[in-house]
Amino acid sequence: MIEDDRIRKSYFVLTGNPFVDAGIYAVEAYYARDFSTLAPEELEAKIDDIVSLYLSEGWKKNLYSIFTGNSAYSNPSKKDKRKASKDFLMGLLKEFSLPGTSGTCIACGRRDALPIRKRDQIPLTGSGKLVNFFAGASSGERYCPVCTFAVQFLPLFLYSVGNRFLLLHSMSSKMMRYWAKRGIKNLEEQIASNNYIGCLQDGYKNQENALFHISEETIRDCEDIFPEENPSITAYIFSNYGQNPPPMEIIYLPNSVFNFLVYIQRIDYPSWRRIVDKGFAKKEDEYKRKSNEVYRRLLEGRSIIDYFIDSKDRSVISDWKVFSYYLKEVRGMEEKRIEVLKKVGDKIADYIRKTDNVKRLFDLETVKSYESLRNVFLKITKDMIANGLEAPLFTIDEYLNDLFPDGSWWKETRDILLFRIYERLADYLKERKEVVEEIEESKEV
Ligand SMILES: [Zn+2]
Repeated sequence: MIEDDRIRKSYFVLTGNPFVDAGIYAVEAYYARDFSTLAPEELEAKIDDIVSLYLSEGWKKNLYSIFTGNSAYSNPSKKDKRKASKDFLMGLLKEFSLPGTSGTCIACGRRDALPIRKRDQIPLTGSGKLVNFFAGASSGERYCPVCTFAVQFLPLFLYSVGNRFLLLHSMSSKMMRYWAKRGIKNLEEQIASNNYIGCLQDGYKNQENALFHISEETIRDCEDIFPEENPSITAYIFSNYGQNPPPMEIIYLPNSVFNFLVYIQRIDYPSWRRIVDKGFAKKEDEYKRKSNEVYRRLLEGRSIIDYFIDSKDRSVISDWKVFSYYLKEVRGMEEKRIEVLKKVGDKIADYIRKTDNVKRLFDLETVKSYESLRNVFLKITKDMIANGLEAPLFTIDEYLNDLFPDGSWWKETRDILLFRIYERLADYLKERKEVVEEIEESKEV
């Protein structure tokens, strides 16, 4: 009966702890078996392989930064590191037990954790003045043998960014499995070419750019990841190197931004590249090192509306469909408001085309305050009436609730209108380019 229990029950349980969960998925990918089916006897089979990998020249340096210089894999006082590493991992396997209903392990909470694990076995469970990821620990933390074992496979999952590591965590098991497989693919390539160079990396030094790069890659490779997945990605950027490693940085990529990335990448990828390129102060090879304003704003919940507009050219990047998806999904705007802004934009565009009054367009582009913007609307409405066009631009209700609702910013409203006007007047502005420029110059004089 006990044997049956062992087959049915899983040693590994997902915990919500990013280090342990990533380790579990790495174990799964490394052993090419669903993690819930793996028992200590089977795990033994590849211990020699993983030890050899960790002791290889290319991986040594990474292991040092992940598990410090005191780990079984790195400690210089251990003459036979191979034996020390193997003994450590086999020792953990011998202590494996099935999860119960309670326990002192801070990760799974379903097994007891003794002895206390330190930084050389679980990254960042430091001592003394070290900034500790896991609160409340003065020296080390309580991890059970199974969770500790899983964490030993973390290097296969990590992504190098400069001299730190990016650890991705998502509630979506699809994404976790994809990232784990990606790590194993990297390893297999190294084995095939007999060129061991350590953790996965693409030369990125900037962690935000790396996160967006990985997200784009994930979206491209996982066609079955849809917005409904609500994956919410958290990136932990850390190093466990030396006496005082830098504090861990956490970047959260909201679902709304991820959904937007999925949408724009699948619908209009070239426009997305143009928008991102505008976010770099300089182009070309800077993109792996320098921070990008578009990425930053998306992560900080700030608007990128102006990046959809080429004000010099009076043109737009992408189209209303993508732009309005961004407004709704990422900026959280109500559909009714978006529809009203589109309608008002269309009315202004049609008015400019019919009356040839591009001066009003310049007025809109150069207003410096809410009051002057309101004045431009008034002037346009008067002109519309004088020219027998359908007026007014909007109802009082639309003005209060949709153009300038509480908490809105006049400039954002103006920019959304400009996007729509430029898009609708694209052919007109092209045809009349010289005339428009002439009027603009005379105005400046
Ligand atoms: Zn545990």
